[in-house]
Amino acid sequence: VVYCNNPTVGLQAIVALHDTTLGPALGGVRMWPYDDEGAALDDVLRLSRGMTYKNALAGLDHGGGKAVIVGDPAHDRTEMRMRCFGRFLDSLGGRYITAEDVGMTAADMECILQETPWVTGTHEYRGGSGDPSPFTAQGTLAGIRACLRERFGHTGIGEVAYAVQGAGHVGLELIRRLRDHDATVYVSDVDPACVQRAVDEFGCHAVEGGAILDTDAEVFAPCALGGVINADTLPRLRCEIVAGAANNQLADTAAGDELHRRGIVYAPDYAINAGGVMNVSLELSGYNAERAHAMTERIEGTVSAILERARREGIPTWLAADRLAEARIAERAALRASAPGTSA
Ligand code: NAD
Repeated sequence: VVYCNNPTVGLQAIVALHDTTLGPALGGVRMWPYDDEGAALDDVLRLSRGMTYKNALAGLDHGGGKAVIVGDPAHDRTEMRMRCFGRFLDSLGGRYITAEDVGMTAADMECILQETPWVTGTHEYRGGSGDPSPFTAQGTLAGIRACLRERFGHTGIGEVAYAVQGAGHVGLELIRRLRDHDATVYVSDVDPACVQRAVDEFGCHAVEGGAILDTDAEVFAPCALGGVINADTLPRLRCEIVAGAANNQLADTAAGDELHRRGIVYAPDYAINAGGVMNVSLELSGYNAERAHAMTERIEGTVSAILERARREGIPTWLAADRLAEARIAERAALRASAPGTSA
């Protein structure tokens, strides 16, 4: 854990490197008005652990890390704070590579880039990969195919109906792809303009707020908030598959256990929504969109492997995903110990 405090520019940030067995840590930086340093530390530790698992399952040569900047994104964003954060990152010599997360913008990443090369998610004209949302949506669709095969024995996207919660960056890109297959799509969003766009541009059916949970559609695709699968919402679900891009969909592991008990196929969020991190990871070796698309398609195989392991061992899919991620990290450590080489 690295504390980055600079009273001159008013920067208070924390970087957490959770595990670097697979390679340098890769994960976003979040700006948030934490109540105190303890809350910021709890969050960065939790988030950095999540990145270890996500990067491992994504097949990346990256460990897990994350950073938080304490501040209100509406008021506390200054060029010098961002540059100062960049200088702290530079002092880590590439052991942590950052990316955009909640509260940060591509312009902030540009400021950080002024001080260190260890940053991804910059503008395309700087050699960056631009908006990750289309890749996240592509990966989500690939994961949905794996779920359809598991539940229905086919991968006909257009043969079932979808309830999409959240028509923002990723949700709308997912809707676009579902409608390309002529699927029936129900949509809800707290922002009426987002719903209207999905209705006007893609012919979706609008659903009022929380009623999306009770919608009679085979696939529920959470693309908004975390914690949406919980003790209150579980009895309402009428879907057979939960597969969407939102982070931290399960309020707790008990919610994942209950999905399993009810026979609902759940694509673990950190496996199905890895298209974005796969995309930015390629910036480090010279960005290529074609490679990013090909890599993102691998998510179908990853989700299939999770579902298969869960079925074989009679365990919930969230646990199968964790075990697969931990196995890759352990195998890589064993390889390194048994076969000395020059790579890290
Ligand atoms: P976004 O802010 O563009 O879209 C989220 C949408 O959800 C907004 O339109 C918002 O109005 C809506 N929303 C908020 N609360 C809602 C509610 N209670 N009911 C219905 N709609 C609600 O964000 P995004 O980039 O599309 O990301 C969506 C989710 O996917 C987030 O959980 C994010 O962490 C996750 N994710 C995104 C990416 C990416 O590439 N953008 C990658 C991985 C994971």
